[in-house]
Amino acid sequence: MRDLKRPVEPYRIKVVERIKKTSRSERETELKKAGYNLFNIPAEKIFIDLLTDSGTSAMSDKQWSGIMVGDESYAGARSFFRFEKSVKNIFGFAHVIPTHQGRAAERILFEAMVKKGDSVPNNIHFDTTQANVEVRGAHAVNLVDDAAYDPDSNDPFKGNMDIGKLERFIEQTGRAKIPLVMLTITNNSGGGQPVSLENIKSVSAVCRRSKIPFFFDACRFAENAYFIKKREKSQARKSVPAIAREMFSYADGATMSAKKDALVNIGGFITYNDATLTRRLKNLLIIGEGFPTYGGLAGRDLEAIARGLDEVVDIDYLEHRTSHVAYLGNLLDRAGVPVFKPIGGHAVYILADRFLPHIPRHQYPGWALSVALYREAGVRSVEIGGVMFGKKDPKTGRETYPVLEMVRLAVPRRVYTVSHLEVVADALIALHKKRDSIRGFRIVEEPAHLRHFTARLEEIK
Ligand SMILES: *Cc1c(COP(=O)(O)O)cnc(C)c1O
Repeated sequence: MRDLKRPVEPYRIKVVERIKKTSRSERETELKKAGYNLFNIPAEKIFIDLLTDSGTSAMSDKQWSGIMVGDESYAGARSFFRFEKSVKNIFGFAHVIPTHQGRAAERILFEAMVKKGDSVPNNIHFDTTQANVEVRGAHAVNLVDDAAYDPDSNDPFKGNMDIGKLERFIEQTGRAKIPLVMLTITNNSGGGQPVSLENIKSVSAVCRRSKIPFFFDACRFAENAYFIKKREKSQARKSVPAIAREMFSYADGATMSAKKDALVNIGGFITYNDATLTRRLKNLLIIGEGFPTYGGLAGRDLEAIARGLDEVVDIDYLEHRTSHVAYLGNLLDRAGVPVFKPIGGHAVYILADRFLPHIPRHQYPGWALSVALYREAGVRSVEIGGVMFGKKDPKTGRETYPVLEMVRLAVPRRVYTVSHLEVVADALIALHKKRDSIRGFRIVEEPAHLRHFTARLEEIK
């Protein structure tokens, strides 16, 4: 079975961290205390944590040694210049501003560029990106190709923007109301699917023609570049850094969460070409984050990001990374668990509405499945469906739901072994067999924005 070939780690383990199993009754108590929200469960009560691949990477010996030599000077630290050099080397933009994480980069960029009543097109906005557009009083518009919503299509680039939709949207809205176009690589909220180089070029051409700035949400740029190398015939012989460099050459800038493809636990940045943005960005940075040569980070963090960016574009690392995630997906798929296809770069997405066809959308099947998986095996996942992206009509209280109702199993980078993934697969396969016993949920408490982080729910009897 080629698709079940065990992925071999291109590293060995030098430091270990204890994790502990819990009993079923312990997990039941934790769920009650947490209002059935897995974000509220103490990490010590989790056995295998697939909540996110964000900030959960294991750093290398080289990164840890970078931590020791970080320069903590307030202004002009050596580590900043090392960071700047590494970012410029891979991304190729003229300016770099560090931030404490990706959403800070988004907030600052949008505060500088986006006004009330504007619209920002994206393939699919990530939740914090959408929230940061909306707090400006602007519209976050998703213009991904329709294939993205078809979990059975094996289209190799389901993250692609629909160019026709983008052109029509610009024509109808007028470029004066579109301060920038974004493209999320890989497309996190659409199954971790990549965007092709061809599509990047087309988006860029449309933006240049309309004189609209084009920015990447570049959190997983290395995984995206690797998929381009593997799936886009014309790119097979190019190196990953060369592909990344070419991707970025078509854009005006990028926001980045270093917690993903920079292999660190905290950090982010904005990188861009337009020098006229610099004053506004730096003013906002100083108010909210810090001086422009540290931007909310310690010198040691900048040093670790610089080294992480060099490691993440390594072909052996990327080959392992993507096949490791695919291994989990293929175990589930072969056992008949409905998964989004193709398997994404950083995560496996389970089709919760198909897994639990007896639970209606307004009872949040994705949420129900993620709670059931914790209850079953102490595995934490995250719902990407009705709770995360449901929209409530303020007058009627009626909710509308995103097309896809999914549970994401995000795989932290270099953290878990093949046997951990097998534990997760076994638990899900067992749940699939007894799926009729899983019940839906109702929300009992929720905030105005990003409700999945803090909402409290109860199980429907
Ligand atoms: C994680 C993420 C962000 C936000 O970054 P944080 O570091 O969590 O603030 C933005 N966009 C995408 C696609 C992401 O995955």
